[in-house]
Amino acid sequence: MSELRLMAVHAHPDDESSKGAATMARYVDEGVRVMVVTLTGGERGDILNPAMDLPEVHGRMAEIRRDEMARAAEILGVEHHWLGFVDSGLPEGDPPPPLPEGCFALEPLEVPTHALVRVIRDFKPHVITTYDENGGYPHPDHIKCHQVSVAAYEAAADHRLFPEAGDPWTPLKLYYNHGFLRQRMQVLQDEFAKHGKEGPFATWLEKWDPDEDLLAKRVTTRIECAKYFAQRDEALLAHATQIDPNSFFFSTPMEWQQRLWPTEEFELARSRVPVTLPETHLFAGIEGYE
Ligand SMILES: [Zn+2]
Repeated sequence: MSELRLMAVHAHPDDESSKGAATMARYVDEGVRVMVVTLTGGERGDILNPAMDLPEVHGRMAEIRRDEMARAAEILGVEHHWLGFVDSGLPEGDPPPPLPEGCFALEPLEVPTHALVRVIRDFKPHVITTYDENGGYPHPDHIKCHQVSVAAYEAAADHRLFPEAGDPWTPLKLYYNHGFLRQRMQVLQDEFAKHGKEGPFATWLEKWDPDEDLLAKRVTTRIECAKYFAQRDEALLAHATQIDPNSFFFSTPMEWQQRLWPTEEFELARSRVPVTLPETHLFAGIEGYE
């Protein structure tokens, strides 16, 4: 089998560990080269773990998040590349405040596209993953990540575009992450009830926007990766400023997750090879796989 390469494009450090991480770990285990590209440094992330809310952490966020990301990449066994843009932060308030000057979301589309095309032409991925047009959740950097990834998927193959960014390379498939599904949460919540316990997802399930249920209908590809869930959790916990180990994310027993929902979900957004849907592999249809 010739070498296969997968590139996962993400907005902030920690996104790679919460979206599709077990899938990446599985492919690494199968001998695929996997690279995570993180578009921003996550400089405007809040400290979301009370145990890390320390004076020595404040003011050093950029540096600390670089170290956390390096550790997560090591745990997942992936290569990693920073694209070097500045976190836009999540604007909160009504109306929301303007985006900070110089941030990623305000960059003209061609600037980050050019930078990502360079990395694509260098790494030569067969498959790229990113977010859908809603960003998975409405953070301006996630929506921009979608726009940049789609533009770069197209532009990398076109010799007329960004000629100084390397020889053209044609990625074959582009996917969106769709792991945050209501149905998964419901199944796990029901298992808590079956064991006479109150599950942690009640508020989420009540507040769920019915439109978001449509996400499940967009899933084309389910990757079996239960064996790698523990590795996923370990990578997530490496982002210690962002992840509270006592949060509800970690309250569902591993055995339930592995038995009741052993997959991660993706939507095939574009393909340059013939495909048959639904699929169980990101590389399905690509010569050299299986
Ligand atoms: Zn993010």
